[in-house]
Amino acid sequence: MNQIDVYYTPQQVSCPSDSSSPSPRKPEWVVKEWLYRKLPVRVIAPVAATRDQIALAHHPRYVDGILSCELMNGFRGRNKDVAQSLPWTCGSFLSAARGALENGLVACSPTSGFHHAGVKTAFGYCTFNGLMVAALSLKAEGKVCRVGILDCDQHFGDGTAEIIAAKRLDWIRHLSKEYVDPDEAEAFIAQLPELVRSFVDCDLLMYQAGADQHVNDPLGGFLTTEQLARRDQIVFTVAKAMGVPVVWNLAGGYQDSLYEVLKIHTNTMLACSAAYGCD
Ligand SMILES: [Zn+2]
Repeated sequence: MNQIDVYYTPQQVSCPSDSSSPSPRKPEWVVKEWLYRKLPVRVIAPVAATRDQIALAHHPRYVDGILSCELMNGFRGRNKDVAQSLPWTCGSFLSAARGALENGLVACSPTSGFHHAGVKTAFGYCTFNGLMVAALSLKAEGKVCRVGILDCDQHFGDGTAEIIAAKRLDWIRHLSKEYVDPDEAEAFIAQLPELVRSFVDCDLLMYQAGADQHVNDPLGGFLTTEQLARRDQIVFTVAKAMGVPVVWNLAGGYQDSLYEVLKIHTNTMLACSAAYGCD
Protein backbone atom coordinates (compact mmCIF):
# COMPACT_ATOMS: atom_id res chain seq x y z
CA MET A 1 0.00 0.00 0.00
CA ASN A 2 1.54 3.33 -1.09
CA GLN A 3 -1.02 5.72 0.32
CA ILE A 4 -4.04 5.91 2.57
CA ASP A 5 -7.32 6.55 0.75
CA VAL A 6 -9.29 9.46 2.22
CA TYR A 7 -12.91 9.81 1.11
CA TYR A 8 -13.55 13.52 0.98
CA THR A 9 -15.66 16.05 -0.91
CA PRO A 10 -16.31 19.70 0.03
CA GLN A 11 -20.01 18.75 0.05
CA GLN A 12 -19.53 16.97 3.39
CA VAL A 13 -18.53 20.26 5.04
CA SER A 14 -21.12 22.52 6.67
CA CYS A 15 -21.02 25.67 8.73
CA PRO A 16 -23.88 25.58 11.26
CA SER A 17 -24.18 29.14 12.53
CA ASP A 18 -25.66 27.85 15.77
CA SER A 19 -22.79 25.67 16.97
CA SER A 20 -19.45 26.09 18.66
CA SER A 21 -18.30 22.64 17.53
CA PRO A 22 -15.56 22.68 14.90
CA SER A 23 -16.54 19.19 13.71
CA PRO A 24 -18.59 20.13 10.61
CA ARG A 25 -15.63 22.04 9.20
CA LYS A 26 -12.90 19.62 10.24
CA PRO A 27 -13.00 17.49 7.06
CA GLU A 28 -11.78 20.40 4.96
CA TRP A 29 -9.14 21.46 7.49
CA VAL A 30 -7.62 18.01 8.04
CA VAL A 31 -7.50 17.16 4.35
CA LYS A 32 -5.82 20.52 3.59
CA GLU A 33 -3.36 19.92 6.42
CA TRP A 34 -2.49 16.40 5.26
CA LEU A 35 -1.99 17.50 1.66
CA TYR A 36 0.05 20.53 2.75
CA ARG A 37 2.27 18.28 4.85
CA LYS A 38 2.58 15.88 1.92
CA LEU A 39 1.37 12.90 3.92
CA PRO A 40 0.90 9.75 1.83
CA VAL A 41 -2.82 10.22 1.23
CA ARG A 42 -4.98 9.92 -1.85
CA VAL A 43 -8.23 11.90 -1.84
CA ILE A 44 -11.18 10.06 -3.39
CA ALA A 45 -14.64 11.56 -3.91
CA PRO A 46 -17.25 9.61 -1.92
CA VAL A 47 -20.71 8.63 -3.11
CA ALA A 48 -23.53 10.25 -1.13
CA ALA A 49 -25.64 7.93 1.04
CA THR A 50 -29.21 7.69 -0.22
CA ARG A 51 -32.30 8.47 1.80
CA ASP A 52 -33.11 4.72 1.85
CA GLN A 53 -29.65 3.78 3.07
CA ILE A 54 -29.93 6.32 5.90
CA ALA A 55 -33.39 4.91 6.70
CA LEU A 56 -31.83 1.49 7.35
CA ALA A 57 -30.52 2.98 10.61
CA HIS A 58 -33.14 5.64 11.34
CA HIS A 59 -36.90 5.96 11.30
CA PRO A 60 -37.95 7.03 7.78
CA ARG A 61 -40.01 9.95 9.10
CA TYR A 62 -37.03 11.17 11.08
CA VAL A 63 -34.81 10.94 7.99
CA ASP A 64 -37.29 12.92 5.90
CA GLY A 65 -37.85 15.47 8.67
CA ILE A 66 -34.13 16.12 8.98
CA LEU A 67 -33.46 16.29 5.24
CA SER A 68 -36.36 18.74 4.77
CA CYS A 69 -35.18 20.84 7.77
CA GLU A 70 -38.51 20.35 9.59
CA LEU A 71 -36.80 18.60 12.49
CA MET A 72 -33.90 20.00 14.50
CA ASN A 73 -30.50 18.55 13.66
CA GLY A 74 -27.75 17.61 16.12
CA PHE A 75 -26.67 21.26 16.33
CA ARG A 76 -30.11 22.25 17.66
CA GLY A 77 -30.86 24.07 14.42
CA ARG A 78 -32.57 23.61 11.08
CA ASN A 79 -29.75 24.88 8.92
CA LYS A 80 -30.18 23.78 5.29
CA ASP A 81 -26.42 23.75 4.91
CA VAL A 82 -26.20 21.02 7.58
CA ALA A 83 -29.06 18.96 6.12
CA GLN A 84 -27.44 18.99 2.68
CA SER A 85 -24.08 17.84 4.09
CA LEU A 86 -25.47 14.81 5.93
CA PRO A 87 -25.84 12.38 2.99
CA TRP A 88 -22.23 13.25 2.18
CA THR A 89 -20.84 12.66 5.69
CA CYS A 90 -22.65 9.30 5.84
CA GLY A 91 -21.58 8.68 2.25
CA SER A 92 -17.95 9.46 3.06
CA PHE A 93 -17.98 6.87 5.82
CA LEU A 94 -19.83 4.28 3.72
CA SER A 95 -17.51 4.84 0.75
CA ALA A 96 -14.44 4.56 2.98
CA ALA A 97 -15.84 1.36 4.51
CA ARG A 98 -16.24 -0.07 1.01
CA GLY A 99 -12.69 1.04 0.20
CA ALA A 100 -11.30 -0.73 3.27
CA LEU A 101 -13.21 -3.92 2.40
CA GLU A 102 -11.91 -3.77 -1.17
CA ASN A 103 -8.25 -3.16 -0.36
CA GLY A 104 -8.45 -5.44 2.68
CA LEU A 105 -6.42 -3.03 4.80
CA VAL A 106 -7.60 0.46 5.69
CA ALA A 107 -9.36 3.65 4.56
CA CYS A 108 -10.15 6.99 6.18
CA SER A 109 -13.32 9.05 6.32
CA PRO A 110 -12.58 12.55 7.67
CA THR A 111 -15.91 12.76 9.46
CA SER A 112 -17.43 13.31 12.90
CA GLY A 113 -20.88 13.62 14.38
CA PHE A 114 -22.29 10.09 14.24
CA HIS A 115 -22.43 8.17 17.50
CA HIS A 116 -25.02 10.13 19.55
CA ALA A 117 -27.64 9.89 16.78
CA GLY A 118 -30.33 7.33 17.65
CA VAL A 119 -33.20 5.80 15.70
CA LYS A 120 -35.14 9.07 15.71
CA THR A 121 -33.07 11.43 17.80
CA ALA A 122 -30.35 13.96 17.10
CA PHE A 123 -28.02 14.87 19.94
CA GLY A 124 -24.58 16.26 20.73
CA TYR A 125 -23.62 17.48 17.24
CA CYS A 126 -24.80 14.13 15.78
CA THR A 127 -27.78 13.84 13.40
CA PHE A 128 -27.43 10.66 11.36
CA ASN A 129 -25.38 7.73 12.63
CA GLY A 130 -23.01 7.17 9.74
CA LEU A 131 -21.44 4.17 11.51
CA MET A 132 -24.78 2.38 11.57
CA VAL A 133 -25.78 3.58 8.09
CA ALA A 134 -22.58 2.02 6.74
CA ALA A 135 -22.89 -1.19 8.75
CA LEU A 136 -26.51 -1.75 7.77
CA SER A 137 -25.96 -0.82 4.11
CA LEU A 138 -23.05 -3.23 3.74
CA LYS A 139 -24.95 -5.95 5.59
CA ALA A 140 -27.96 -5.49 3.29
CA GLU A 141 -25.64 -5.87 0.29
CA GLY A 142 -24.13 -9.05 1.73
CA LYS A 143 -20.66 -7.45 1.91
CA VAL A 144 -20.18 -8.16 5.63
CA CYS A 145 -21.32 -10.76 8.15
CA ARG A 146 -19.89 -9.29 11.34
CA VAL A 147 -18.90 -5.67 12.00
CA GLY A 148 -16.90 -4.27 14.90
CA ILE A 149 -17.10 -0.72 16.24
CA LEU A 150 -14.25 0.49 18.43
CA ASP A 151 -15.41 3.90 19.56
CA CYS A 152 -12.48 5.85 20.99
CA ASP A 153 -14.33 9.12 21.13
CA GLN A 154 -14.29 10.40 24.71
CA HIS A 155 -18.06 10.00 25.06
CA PHE A 156 -20.25 6.93 25.15
CA GLY A 157 -21.79 6.06 21.79
CA ASP A 158 -25.32 6.06 23.13
CA GLY A 159 -26.98 6.50 19.73
CA THR A 160 -25.06 3.55 18.31
CA ALA A 161 -25.99 1.41 21.32
CA GLU A 162 -29.64 2.43 20.99
CA ILE A 163 -29.86 1.49 17.31
CA ILE A 164 -28.09 -1.84 17.94
CA ALA A 165 -30.54 -2.65 20.75
CA ALA A 166 -33.65 -1.43 18.92
CA LYS A 167 -32.86 -3.47 15.81
CA ARG A 168 -31.33 -6.41 17.71
CA LEU A 169 -28.13 -6.30 15.68
CA ASP A 170 -26.28 -9.18 17.30
CA TRP A 171 -23.77 -9.23 14.43
CA ILE A 172 -22.27 -5.92 15.55
CA ARG A 173 -19.68 -5.83 18.33
CA HIS A 174 -19.70 -2.33 19.84
CA LEU A 175 -17.07 -1.17 22.34
CA SER A 176 -17.45 2.33 23.76
CA LYS A 177 -16.53 3.48 27.25
CA GLU A 178 -15.95 6.83 28.89
CA TYR A 179 -12.73 7.24 30.85
CA VAL A 180 -12.16 10.46 32.75
CA ASP A 181 -9.18 9.85 35.03
CA PRO A 182 -5.67 10.25 33.56
CA ASP A 183 -4.63 7.58 36.09
CA GLU A 184 -6.56 5.09 33.95
CA ALA A 185 -4.56 5.94 30.82
CA GLU A 186 -1.77 3.40 31.05
CA ALA A 187 -4.14 0.60 32.04
CA PHE A 188 -6.34 1.48 29.05
CA ILE A 189 -3.40 1.37 26.67
CA ALA A 190 -2.10 -1.88 28.17
CA GLN A 191 -5.53 -3.45 27.64
CA LEU A 192 -6.02 -2.07 24.14
CA PRO A 193 -4.28 -4.83 22.12
CA GLU A 194 -6.60 -7.38 23.72
CA LEU A 195 -9.64 -5.19 23.01
CA VAL A 196 -8.66 -4.88 19.35
CA ARG A 197 -8.04 -8.63 19.14
CA SER A 198 -11.62 -9.21 20.35
CA PHE A 199 -12.72 -8.05 16.87
CA VAL A 200 -10.87 -10.91 15.18
CA ASP A 201 -14.07 -12.49 13.80
CA CYS A 202 -15.27 -9.21 12.22
CA ASP A 203 -15.13 -8.54 8.48
CA LEU A 204 -14.63 -4.84 9.11
CA LEU A 205 -13.57 -2.74 12.09
CA MET A 206 -14.94 0.79 12.38
CA TYR A 207 -12.56 2.89 14.48
CA GLN A 208 -13.59 6.27 15.84
CA ALA A 209 -10.21 7.92 16.56
CA GLY A 210 -11.61 10.71 18.72
CA ALA A 211 -9.37 13.68 19.53
CA ASP A 212 -11.53 14.49 22.56
CA GLN A 213 -9.86 11.67 24.51
CA HIS A 214 -7.04 14.21 24.96
CA VAL A 215 -6.44 15.28 28.54
CA ASN A 216 -6.68 18.99 27.59
CA ASP A 217 -10.03 18.65 25.85
CA PRO A 218 -12.73 20.80 27.49
CA LEU A 219 -15.30 17.99 27.07
CA GLY A 220 -13.30 15.43 28.99
CA GLY A 221 -10.34 13.29 28.08
CA PHE A 222 -7.60 11.34 29.85
CA LEU A 223 -4.79 10.69 27.36
CA THR A 224 -1.72 12.77 26.54
CA THR A 225 -0.73 13.45 22.93
CA GLU A 226 1.86 10.70 23.18
CA GLN A 227 -0.65 8.24 24.64
CA LEU A 228 -3.15 9.04 21.87
CA ALA A 229 -0.45 8.27 19.31
CA ARG A 230 0.19 4.91 21.01
CA ARG A 231 -3.56 4.25 21.02
CA ASP A 232 -3.69 4.74 17.25
CA GLN A 233 -0.53 2.74 16.62
CA ILE A 234 -1.92 -0.22 18.61
CA VAL A 235 -5.30 -0.20 16.86
CA PHE A 236 -3.80 -0.14 13.36
CA THR A 237 -0.96 -2.61 13.94
CA VAL A 238 -3.08 -5.18 15.80
CA ALA A 239 -5.94 -4.97 13.26
CA LYS A 240 -3.48 -5.30 10.37
CA ALA A 241 -1.80 -8.30 11.99
CA MET A 242 -5.23 -9.94 12.38
CA GLY A 243 -6.14 -9.19 8.76
CA VAL A 244 -9.24 -7.21 9.73
CA PRO A 245 -9.79 -4.13 7.48
CA VAL A 246 -10.22 -0.83 9.30
CA VAL A 247 -12.30 2.20 8.36
CA TRP A 248 -11.56 5.12 10.65
CA ASN A 249 -12.83 8.62 11.20
CA LEU A 250 -12.13 11.70 13.28
CA ALA A 251 -15.00 11.91 15.79
CA GLY A 252 -14.79 14.59 18.53
CA GLY A 253 -12.16 17.18 19.42
CA TYR A 254 -13.01 20.49 21.06
CA GLN A 255 -9.82 22.18 22.24
CA ASP A 256 -9.87 25.94 21.70
CA SER A 257 -6.76 25.65 19.63
CA LEU A 258 -7.68 24.19 16.28
CA TYR A 259 -3.98 23.55 15.80
CA GLU A 260 -3.99 21.12 18.74
CA VAL A 261 -7.02 19.24 17.40
CA LEU A 262 -5.54 18.96 13.90
CA LYS A 263 -2.26 17.78 15.40
CA ILE A 264 -4.05 14.83 17.02
CA HIS A 265 -5.85 13.88 13.80
CA THR A 266 -2.59 14.22 11.87
CA ASN A 267 -0.89 11.92 14.39
CA THR A 268 -3.63 9.36 13.70
CA MET A 269 -2.91 9.56 9.98
CA LEU A 270 0.82 9.23 10.65
CA ALA A 271 0.20 6.13 12.80
CA CYS A 272 -2.02 4.75 10.07
CA SER A 273 0.44 5.31 7.24
CA ALA A 274 3.29 3.86 9.33
CA ALA A 275 1.30 0.76 10.30
CA TYR A 276 0.40 0.04 6.68
CA GLY A 277 3.90 0.70 5.38
CA CYS A 278 3.35 3.87 3.39
CA ASP A 279 5.27 6.43 5.40
ZN1 LIG B 1 -17.07 13.10 21.97
